[in-house]
Amino acid sequence: MRIPVLTYHAANVAGMAYAGNDHVALAHDLRLIDALGWQIIPLDAVLDLIDGRRPWPSRPCLALTFDDGTDLDVRAIEWPGIGLQPGFLPILRAFRDETAGRQPELHATCFVIASPAAREAMDRQCLFGGDVMGEDWWPMAAATGLLGIGNHSWDHNHDVAPEAAPDGLPRGRFFAVDNAVRADWQIARAQDYIAARVPGQPIRHFGYPYGDVNSYLRDDYLPSRGQALGLAAAWTTDGRPVTAAEQRWALPRYVCGLHWRSPDELEALLAGASA
Ligand SMILES: [Zn+2]
Repeated sequence: MRIPVLTYHAANVAGMAYAGNDHVALAHDLRLIDALGWQIIPLDAVLDLIDGRRPWPSRPCLALTFDDGTDLDVRAIEWPGIGLQPGFLPILRAFRDETAGRQPELHATCFVIASPAAREAMDRQCLFGGDVMGEDWWPMAAATGLLGIGNHSWDHNHDVAPEAAPDGLPRGRFFAVDNAVRADWQIARAQDYIAARVPGQPIRHFGYPYGDVNSYLRDDYLPSRGQALGLAAAWTTDGRPVTAAEQRWALPRYVCGLHWRSPDELEALLAGASA
């Protein structure tokens, strides 16, 4: 059992070519995935498969995740200097309509950043100040049935995050979240905040910011606290397919732009992942 999980960033908009624009890449990749005979399944279904709660399907399966939670996950937005970006949800809807039932479980999980202050700072300093890192879309996205919401930490431990973090937490990478005080602040607090805003959809997945995993979170904090927080799994960006042998609190994902940069590279990646 080998299940690739593919990751896209809707704020990755450097131009209008496949390499450097995850809207272009996602729209292309969905058609390729379908044409190659793969079935897209929700992240929860990946856990059901590796845990044996669901029989192995006849077609190879993969799942989709979207990181960092911008409004571009759900709607078209004009990107200054580059042009109108369609948004990931409209891309999924168009693909669903076009494939006429061939992808009945089409779904992606959006890993969102909880802190309003951090999102506002990122919007201004990392994007273009267009107020495109809101949270009103979270419950709407979950209600579509095409998107789920996951936890991408309180503030990504990002360099521009403005709040004073506890315990002298150094900013910039997530490796530094290495004790209970820091982890409660970055993970448990985010879990509460996000869950309160997405009623009716449990927040079951945590995505490590930057893909940064440390042994404290993977082997101690999440195994002991994750389930009580409502989490079922945590996801890295380690560039391997998921198998039953992988650790539940560090399941690997592939990242568009990092692990593949063209349709040919995705096709080769999928061929290798299913071999
Ligand atoms: Zn991220």
